[in-house]
Amino acid sequence: MAKKVDEIKWHELNIGGVIDEPGSAREYFTGDWRSQRPVWDESRCIKCGVCWMVCPDIAIYQKSDGYFVANYDYSKGCGICAKECPTGAIKMVEEGR
Ligand code: SF4
Repeated sequence: MAKKVDEIKWHELNIGGVIDEPGSAREYFTGDWRSQRPVWDESRCIKCGVCWMVCPDIAIYQKSDGYFVANYDYSKGCGICAKECPTGAIKMVEEGR
């Protein structure tokens, strides 16, 4: 079983950041790196799913009402979703605002 990230000391990391234990990605909260977050304006969303499709981290999911949202534990705030949204429904905002 993979160690949790906060149990690993820096000198225990694999050289090059190689992950040799499959299935451990869930333990890495890559959203901690984020400086901006995507915010949805549902009044502009047409539920096309482009944002979900282009997210490189599979951090966007569809809610039961059909609209989309990011899982902020994993969204790194790259902004690809906002760039590709055809209706401008996603804005990138600074973290903490
Ligand atoms: S890409 Fe834009 S319009 Fe399409 S589902 Fe995502 S937020 Fe809505």
